[in-house]
Amino acid sequence: MQTNSTAMYWKSLDNNRVKCELCPHECIIKNNDVGKCRARINKGGILHTLTYGKVISYAYDPIEKKPLAHFHPGASIFSIGTSGCNLACTFCQNHNLVSYTGQVPLTSPKEIIALAAQNGSIGIAYTYNEPTIWYEFMLETCKLAKSAGLINVMVTNGYINPEPMKALLPWLDAMNIDLKGSTDTFYKEICSGTLQPVMDTIALCHSKVHVEVTMLLIDTLNTDWDAFEAKCQWLSQINPELPLHISRYFPAHKLTIPKTRLETLSKAREIALKYLKNVHIGNAFI
Ligand code: SF4
Repeated sequence: MQTNSTAMYWKSLDNNRVKCELCPHECIIKNNDVGKCRARINKGGILHTLTYGKVISYAYDPIEKKPLAHFHPGASIFSIGTSGCNLACTFCQNHNLVSYTGQVPLTSPKEIIALAAQNGSIGIAYTYNEPTIWYEFMLETCKLAKSAGLINVMVTNGYINPEPMKALLPWLDAMNIDLKGSTDTFYKEICSGTLQPVMDTIALCHSKVHVEVTMLLIDTLNTDWDAFEAKCQWLSQINPELPLHISRYFPAHKLTIPKTRLETLSKAREIALKYLKNVHIGNAFI
């Protein structure tokens, strides 16, 4: 069991460099340097995690807020997040949290379990920022939670390599996976990532745990309806019952495009319902 800050999923290269293999960026990191997520540092040829136990945000949330609409409806779940991300979306809706660099007291998995067993919570949601980049802390907490009879939910951008994802799946009960856009160009230009690994994560996980997918729509940026329809069709080929959340964007971080029009969300839902049985609109009336 991981009990210190040494990272998992990396290999040594020459000149004290390392290659991180946790997510598809596969950063080559020089000594004393950090990866793209800024959450993993190379110290003397050993990769360490910088976010282990550094929980900066927690709350007892309704499970519908994750969002999960078809998994323990009405339940409360203890939700935690750290800082940093392995994508760099210009519209990041959690930028203040993701970019936080202040001092954070350490929290242990045991303390998380104790909090997660209070206030009617059914378990733990790893959420708010991208939990992939605090993989070691999430994995250790997931294992303890399972032995305590608690549920584990990962809310993720899906930008994780298959090997670590497969190792985590036996400890998870449900996931919400963001499909941030329908094209690779959108992922490259707006999110600093690529589309295929996210599709691979959805395809890998849907038959192992309960999976719901979220697509946040931004007028003019990811409302290419042909591409959107093709993704809905692809999701239906995976499973036509797979719940899809069409979420409303609000201007945030670097993006000033006005909030998504309600007509856009309705049109998207109409298209998605041609292929999928469970389509929900989210964030529409706040
Ligand atoms: S987890 Fe971080 S350091 Fe590792 S490959 Fe991804 S971005 Fe790079």
